[in-house]
Amino acid sequence: MRLLLVEDEKRMAEALAAILRKENYEVDIMNDGDEGLYAAQSDAYDIMILDVMLPGMSGFEIAKQLRRDGIKTPILMLTAKGELDDKVEGLDSGADDYLTKPFMTKELLARLRALERRYSGVNNDNTLEFGDIELNTDSCMLICKSNGQSVRLKEKEFNIMRHLLINQNKVMERESLAMKIWNYDSEAEYNNVEVYISFTRKKLKFIGAKTQIKSVRGIGYELREGD
Ligand code: CA
Repeated sequence: MRLLLVEDEKRMAEALAAILRKENYEVDIMNDGDEGLYAAQSDAYDIMILDVMLPGMSGFEIAKQLRRDGIKTPILMLTAKGELDDKVEGLDSGADDYLTKPFMTKELLARLRALERRYSGVNNDNTLEFGDIELNTDSCMLICKSNGQSVRLKEKEFNIMRHLLINQNKVMERESLAMKIWNYDSEAEYNNVEVYISFTRKKLKFIGAKTQIKSVRGIGYELREGD
């Protein structure tokens, strides 16, 4: 379960993330509104926790923008104590639930589970598609739709393919892939990206897909439909 936590109080965010990670959530933390929106738009999260008062965009604005973009990821909004209007505005903006600060960890976890249950049946977005390929994000299976061949991707290959599919029709920068997959920005990691791109290309070939990962010189990679 991938969770995006947008919270500007860094110590609180870290403490909360530590608890969530113990509960097996894979947590990314963003400390300001603009970064939070960017992360939510450019990555696939299963659930989000948005603080309302943030530097940059507010939690309300982020939720509104995501809903306008058609991103339906469930949102739990954190509001400050006693701000009743916040609750109303939060729900109006597209949040699915809210929790008033300070809150008990137990309650936060219970509400997250409730949100997951509520959306697990509805949200069948466990496949990403482009051209003749389909990636199942639960099973990590890469499928060629035209011939039914499939192969399971290993973790890094899966992450590469998932990022390329989420960012389809644009060039995915090599640096940005390295950051997203290895969480690190260095020359060594760029070489790693190239190695894993070549593994992923082999998997595409193996299933007989026409879709290709094209290198865009000096920038990065993009998916292209073959002919
Ligand atoms: Ca705040």
